[in-house]
Formats: sequence, structure tokens, C-alpha cells
Amino acid sequence: MSDEALIAISKRPKAELHLHFEGAAPPSFIRGLAKEKNVDLSGIFREDGSYDYRDFVHFLSVYEAATSVLKTPEDFARLCTAVLEQSAANGVVYSETFLSPDFCGGGDVGAWREYLAAIREAADHAERTMGVTLRGIVTCIRHFGPEQAKSAALCAAETADDWLVGFGMAGDENKGKQRDFAYSFDMAREAGLKLTSHAGEWRGPQEVREAVDDLRVDRIGHGVRSIGDLAVVDMLAEKQVTLEVCPGSNVFLGVYGSLAEHPIDQLRKRGVKVTVSTDDPPFFHTTMEKEYGDLARCFNWDASVFDDLTRNAIDAAFCDDQTRETIAKKLELS
Ligand SMILES: [Zn+2]
Repeated sequence: MSDEALIAISKRPKAELHLHFEGAAPPSFIRGLAKEKNVDLSGIFREDGSYDYRDFVHFLSVYEAATSVLKTPEDFARLCTAVLEQSAANGVVYSETFLSPDFCGGGDVGAWREYLAAIREAADHAERTMGVTLRGIVTCIRHFGPEQAKSAALCAAETADDWLVGFGMAGDENKGKQRDFAYSFDMAREAGLKLTSHAGEWRGPQEVREAVDDLRVDRIGHGVRSIGDLAVVDMLAEKQVTLEVCPGSNVFLGVYGSLAEHPIDQLRKRGVKVTVSTDDPPFFHTTMEKEYGDLARCFNWDASVFDDLTRNAIDAAFCDDQTRETIAKKLELS
């Protein structure tokens, strides 16, 4: 593929469905906030200004240190603007982001409302000025356990509307079972929210099956390791459960040794609805433009494949149908 063709693909308008809000914080934003608050975070940055860590365990501590300066609703509103500037710069016109009431008010509904209002105001402003539309998905954190998840689900249910559109689960996939969280997912579904859960990133196909069977999710976060059982892959294709695939994240964290070994192309060819996202982009040294360029180069995907990915993303977006139509036009889909 020529350089011109690669650039054209990387510059396409995009929709992104899997983006952790705090994990998308640009290092320059975190540095600025730390300085204002007189917090010394100099140890977590490289000379070029990017996040610095040696390995996965160290990455977790850098992530925790970076996000520790985010405290007030105002901090999160400013984070929203900083994140959407990055999205807009990468041609993203529609994005959904994971928000955790555990980090925004400690799971208290009243406090959560204040954080949400501040974030939404910043998002509405960004939509007018930058042309990127954001919607929120509340996530519970798996390793905090099922009881704490209930307070996140309650926050989600109490604030479900045309902006707060989904409920999901992130966190350590090796802790507990999907079904331990069924109560919270049922509460969210009854409030009209769409559902997604991280599964099949670290654990295998059975985890993906359990998310579909036990939590009745509409989408799966990652889900790539379902490739280990073609019956699970075929189930995803038949039920049209969309995968939020984050190839750069998977390679960076060592789920796969290289992009060439990543199963996204196999999953797509077997009929699974796949989409492309960045997960925690500055921490994994990626962007949506980079993901598109890398995929085009590695798998020789042409524009028609990216048309399919974009269509999958807009079909599986949790927004209302009126928003979906508006976004489809911006994405140049008919
Ligand atoms: Zn994720």
C-alpha cells in the first residue's frame, strides 16, 4: 500500500467505543494539573513528556500516580476537554467513554451527579467547538467486588438519559466471575442502559461466553481471546455481539506478541462485528490514527474494510437513533 493510501486511511472520520476516561488523560494535562496542585509527579514522565514505566506492574503504579491528581468535578471537566481535543485531532467524530463513580464521588449518587454534570457540560461545549460527540458509560470495577459494583450500577441507573447511555465492567478479569455482577447489570438494563463487559482480554473464550450468557451484554470489551474456541466466535457472529477491539493495547500489554499475530482479521473474516479503539491511548503510546495506519499496513486492509468497521461501530453505539443518524452522516455512511 502506498504512503498516500495509508495516510488517507489514517485520516478517515472515526467512531471509538472503548476509551477509559482517566486512561485517556494526555501527559501534558496531568503534568499541568500536578503543577497547579503542587504535587511532584516528575518521576512518571520521560524527557520527551510521555508516561514512563519499565513493565506492567510499574505501568499500574504510574497510572495510579497520574490519575491521583484528578479530584474535583472541575478537574474531570478539564480532563474531558483535554481528552476530546485528542479525539478531534485524530478524526474521531463520535466517542463513548468509561466513567467510574468509584473515582468520581466514591460511589455516592449525589456526588456522582455533580461530576457527571461538569463532564457533560464540557462535552457539550466540545461538541459545539470541536465537532466531536461524546457519550458516557458507567463502569464498575471488577476487582472492587460485586457489592461495590451495586453502588456504581445505582449511580448509572439514577442518571441514565440520552447522554449516560451504558453500563459496563472494567478491572481485573482474573478476579471473580461475570455472573457475580448479574444483579448490577440487571439493575442497569432495567434503567434502559445498554451493556458491555471486559472479557476475553486475559482470560479465554469461556469468559466471553459467560459475559454473553450471564450478563446479557450488547458488546464485549476486547473479546479477542474468543478466537481459542470457534464455537464462541460463531456464537458472537450469530448473536451480533460487537467486540470493542483495542489492537495496540493488546500488543503493548503482551496479550499478543505482535499485531500480525492479533486475531482481529480472523474474527472479522468469520463474521464477528469488530470495531477499533485505543483503550488508554497515551499509556499505550497509541492514537486512533496510529491504530488505523498500523492495521491497514499489517493486514493490507483497504477502505472497504474500514467502512465495515465504522458501520459496526455506529450500529453498536449506545446513543439514541437520532444521534446515530447524525453521526452516520458525519462518518460519511449512507
Ligand atoms: Zn479497557
